Amino acid sequence: MPTDLILKNANVVTMDAARPRAELAAVSGDSIFFTGGNTELERLTGRSSKVIDCAGRTVVPGFNDAHLHLFSFVRKLLSIDLSPASVRSIEDIKEAVRKKAQATPPGTWISGTDYNEFYLQGGRIPTRWDLDEVTPDHPVVLSHRSLHECVLNSLALKLAGINAETQEPPNARIERDLATGEPNGILIDMLSYIRSEVMPPFSDEEMAEGVALADRYFLSHGITSFQEATVSNDLARWEKICSLKLNDDLRSRITMMAGAPFWKDFKQKGLKTGYGDNLMQLGAVKVMPAVRPEQSELNQLALDCHKAGFQLAFHAVDEATVDAAITAMEYVSEHSPVKTRRHRIEHCGECTPSLLERIKKLGLVIITQPPFIYYNGERYLATVPKTQQPWLYRIRSPLEAGIVVAGSSDSPVVTADPLAGIYAAVTRRAENGQVLLPEERITVEQALALYTVNAAYSSFEEKTRGSIAPGKLADMVILSGDPTRVPPEKIKDIKVEMTIIGGEVVWEG
Ligand SMILES: [Zn+2]
Repeated sequence: MPTDLILKNANVVTMDAARPRAELAAVSGDSIFFTGGNTELERLTGRSSKVIDCAGRTVVPGFNDAHLHLFSFVRKLLSIDLSPASVRSIEDIKEAVRKKAQATPPGTWISGTDYNEFYLQGGRIPTRWDLDEVTPDHPVVLSHRSLHECVLNSLALKLAGINAETQEPPNARIERDLATGEPNGILIDMLSYIRSEVMPPFSDEEMAEGVALADRYFLSHGITSFQEATVSNDLARWEKICSLKLNDDLRSRITMMAGAPFWKDFKQKGLKTGYGDNLMQLGAVKVMPAVRPEQSELNQLALDCHKAGFQLAFHAVDEATVDAAITAMEYVSEHSPVKTRRHRIEHCGECTPSLLERIKKLGLVIITQPPFIYYNGERYLATVPKTQQPWLYRIRSPLEAGIVVAGSSDSPVVTADPLAGIYAAVTRRAENGQVLLPEERITVEQALALYTVNAAYSSFEEKTRGSIAPGKLADMVILSGDPTRVPPEKIKDIKVEMTIIGGEVVWEG
């Protein structure tokens, strides 16, 4: 067996219980075949071996983001960033739109994402009239962080056919000036309609540019695997991502979930959870319960998917929805001889002790988002009722109960930086320094597990990835520091210096 790659003089944090630390890792083909001490170097080195001297730097398994939204992320990368990190006032927003307009041909849509009035001076949301001041000649759409709200300027409203006479659409709202009835540009729950029905789709050039930016982002943040969790994922989306993988446009390994509305299409094609290979695999069925889910419908959907061999991934944030998701999976367990299929709860934002007990009993996996603590912690502490606060994004309690918890970003909701997530899980510190539930802090090793072994488990891939051990895929990341040894506050400053996928160096900082 030829040795293709050796990492030597490394501080390897393997996440492999059989050998937690190593100085050296050796790769043949796309897999690791040996971890151990530097003394083995001579024996293992062959004529064609590439040897990387890590000079004492830390190597960890490639990160796996267990829940993100690829094409929304691409859209974000092609849009103006209006998150609190970039803008703090309506004037800032106007300035950013003005600059983009100057560089964009008139008539072309301009998008901005992630405004959040909680962090804007004055707490006010911009209106069409604010945006008209900076560009009357480009249609503009700005989306709220939650994606439930957006703001259009007058030209965009006109293209959407929305005016004073427009009736309220079902399950959505057009905000209006109280005196004149004229829409003020703010639309509730109409963003996906605007994006899919009013705006033209991205051109091939835009799409290629956005995908290249996303690929570079993932690799430069050490994300060697990610799981695509979009409820609108249909067969066309599957084909699209498969073709991006075939062209090597996206080098991270991808597990794509099937949206619940389309799961039967996948089934008809003979595709179910686990179909695919190490590069591209079909994951769970993503279920997005409506605002007030009909329990019997959820139960039936869950049972049908389960019986057809699919894993389930329930989007459930608040207590009532988590309860509904668990109830559906209890129904599955009562009505099927196969008791569980590692069904997942995505987010599990409010996890009370009784919900936790039921999750444990069913063997469900929780997909959490530690970066929410960092980016939204201040807002949670200010706006979530005190009675609910003790249950917010708990991680230590489920881990101690023996529940598998995987880490993710829900990107583009927050930045897909696993080290930011590890920092937040360890410190529970919000960006402004406030701490959300210090009793839910976990160790650095546990936090690393969220983004490596546990994330691999959540998509049935723990036999092939998640740790640096013989037989595993050679997905590894070289870091500028050892997160287990630096003070917790410094974890978020650690940088990814090299990313390796399948034994191939795909990114160097
Ligand atoms: Zn999501």
